[in-house]
Amino acid sequence: MKIDIHNHPMWYNMTPERFVENMDKYGIDKTVLLSWETPEDEYDTSYRQILPLSRTGYPVPFEYCLDAWQKYPDRFYLGYAPDPRHEDAIPKLISAVNTYGVRIYGEMKLRMMFDNPDAIRIYRKCAELGLAVLVHIDYEFPSGQHSPRPNYWYGGGIEALGRACEACPETTFIGHAPGFWAHISGDGKAYKEAYPKGEVEPDGLLIRYLDKYPNLMCDMSAGSGCNALRRDPDFAVKFLTEYQDRVLYGRDYFDNQHQEFLNSIELPDEVLEKIYHKNAERVLKI
Ligand SMILES: [Zn+2]
Repeated sequence: MKIDIHNHPMWYNMTPERFVENMDKYGIDKTVLLSWETPEDEYDTSYRQILPLSRTGYPVPFEYCLDAWQKYPDRFYLGYAPDPRHEDAIPKLISAVNTYGVRIYGEMKLRMMFDNPDAIRIYRKCAELGLAVLVHIDYEFPSGQHSPRPNYWYGGGIEALGRACEACPETTFIGHAPGFWAHISGDGKAYKEAYPKGEVEPDGLLIRYLDKYPNLMCDMSAGSGCNALRRDPDFAVKFLTEYQDRVLYGRDYFDNQHQEFLNSIELPDEVLEKIYHKNAERVLKI
């Protein structure tokens, strides 16, 4: 059994039909479809080549998740993260839970501090509704690639996520993206590089926060999660064994790099089972 905790419909032209074909190709039983409701002027416009035209301006409005889920209800679970800065975010979330059975609050990818009062309010509501919160973190440093902004930061760093974990002990948080995973190492590269390489050095903030906050988990999806594990496979075995109850398999794309990596290292079957589906079942309350 494999559950992909993090993916998006329609991105990379993945219609629901193509999406299910792709899941079958890689032996993925279920996928959690996350909305990606970043305002039009808060995301990299180069993504528009691989996103459908949307009336809302969001990269992946919740409606796309709904559409795919309604076509393949046995293959998908629903995630939804309305922007906490909007006054109707909490009512919309409650409605989506009650109407469609949304199981997770995500993906939150916004240019705001993740411990601002509006965000804290919605995290507490998520705890009441039984939803974990999945966040994307990126730091501010010039990438040299993007225009019109020099880069696209999100969330205010892993430090803001740590403060949210502290402020909302009843809420489960799931970290994702370069600004989260680069902190696996204590080398400080997280502040300067999205995909740092090299052996993992001790005392990374990600490790410190996992030890300090029992309500924090890790989404290994995308290049960021895979890079953090692949940069030091010996460390990855230790990390995945020690935090076997806190790491979730996910993709965020339509490739198979995470399974290929997990197959390339030596992990006991019971650890793999947790990463591939048991932890997700606990988080999604299946
Ligand atoms: Zn994503």
